[in-house]
Amino acid sequence: MRAYRAKVVEPIHLPDRDEREANLESAGYNVFNLDAEDVFIDLLTDSGTGTMSDEQWAAMMRGDEAYAGSDSFKRLQESVDDVMGFEKIVPAHQGRGAENVLYGVLISEGDYVPNNTHFDTTRAHIVNNGGKPVDCPIDVDAEDEESFKGNLDPDKVRELADNVGAENIPALVVTITNNSMAGQPVSVENIREARDVADEIDATFVIDACRFAENAYFVQQREDEFSDASVADIAREELSYADAIVMSGKKDALSNIGGFVGVRDESLFEATKQRGILYEGFTTYGGLAGRDLEAMAVGLREAVTESYIEDRVEQVAELGDLLQEAGVPIFAPTGGHAVYVDAEEFLPEIPREEFPGQVLTCELYREGGVRGVELGEFAFPGEDRPQLVRLCLPRRSYFRDHLVHIAESFEKVAERRDELTGLEVVAEPEMEELRHFSAELEPVE
Ligand SMILES: *Cc1c(COP(=O)(O)O)cnc(C)c1O
Repeated sequence: MRAYRAKVVEPIHLPDRDEREANLESAGYNVFNLDAEDVFIDLLTDSGTGTMSDEQWAAMMRGDEAYAGSDSFKRLQESVDDVMGFEKIVPAHQGRGAENVLYGVLISEGDYVPNNTHFDTTRAHIVNNGGKPVDCPIDVDAEDEESFKGNLDPDKVRELADNVGAENIPALVVTITNNSMAGQPVSVENIREARDVADEIDATFVIDACRFAENAYFVQQREDEFSDASVADIAREELSYADAIVMSGKKDALSNIGGFVGVRDESLFEATKQRGILYEGFTTYGGLAGRDLEAMAVGLREAVTESYIEDRVEQVAELGDLLQEAGVPIFAPTGGHAVYVDAEEFLPEIPREEFPGQVLTCELYREGGVRGVELGEFAFPGEDRPQLVRLCLPRRSYFRDHLVHIAESFEKVAERRDELTGLEVVAEPEMEELRHFSAELEPVE
């Protein structure tokens, strides 16, 4: 049950079918090129796109815009300490800024950094700082019953240490929830195992805490030891094992911008503060306005309230259920922030080289004005991956009617399945890795 009601509303508009078709064509069949006002339901990302509470907006009016020693920073510090158990923090403009600050200090040329699965920006910042990111997920299939499909395989980390030498692994990272693995959760038991491995190889244990509250909710629902614990207590417990955290305020701090690093060690704190000043801004604002610090301070506390987090994660599950009832193949069980649709199974006639995920993404817009994002051959050329369409739910923003509309849009695409043709790329930027943000496509003749 939604434990909130609307107090401020933003009208949204469904362009008629002719307009949607014209928009698709002028966007080069790439939904990144659509104007947001032409999108009816926007599921492109859950990053910074959610709805803030009245308390967050009220706190923003108290933003202290002092360059140094801002009160707003103190309130953020107190909130991070209460909610996440880290007293020493370095603010940053968003999660990737925090990653640059921390990994720039921890990593040297030629180092290896294992992670359950590296998120894109994490991978990029580790490479940018001279390191080699190594994914060490447990082996799971979409069909498996495993409750914690986001877990790290500690033996893969030990194997890596045997191969490259523990002294070349300065940090071990666990990402909760595992964004690149369909937003699947990580168990506290697995976090404890990761802590043990980090000790064995003498590495700094980092938790990418972007979705720490969603992860804590899954732990409460699925890990026996924690079935009677509050989400707030679980959140502190899961982070208590880490030496450092990186956080994007755009996720579980329920804000539109922001991020921070949290550390325990005094000398690591000094080093991250210096690097923070260099790249982000003075240590009490980190590239943010005081009001942004306030929004995060309040948002973090709201993220671990039972009524908020249950509604959040269960709404994603609700979308998954509606899609399954409509015959749409999804990655199950759903994760914390998004539903992932298997486009190859949904559109079996479209070969991989003609981007079934991108075709489905475009058709979803054509039928319903809904914007998702392709994660398959178009986004990751030449990588042998499943062809997925990701539907992220912004926090506290949509209602059941919207979810029903999304499922109905899929049904309409299914009715026209046999008429659909593939797409080909007709213009792309120099860096193939970035092509899904701006490339243009056309239907194959
Ligand atoms: C979003 C995200 C980041 C980066 O955060 P930004 O605020 O987008 O820069 C890092 N790690 C994970 C797991 C994320 O989901």
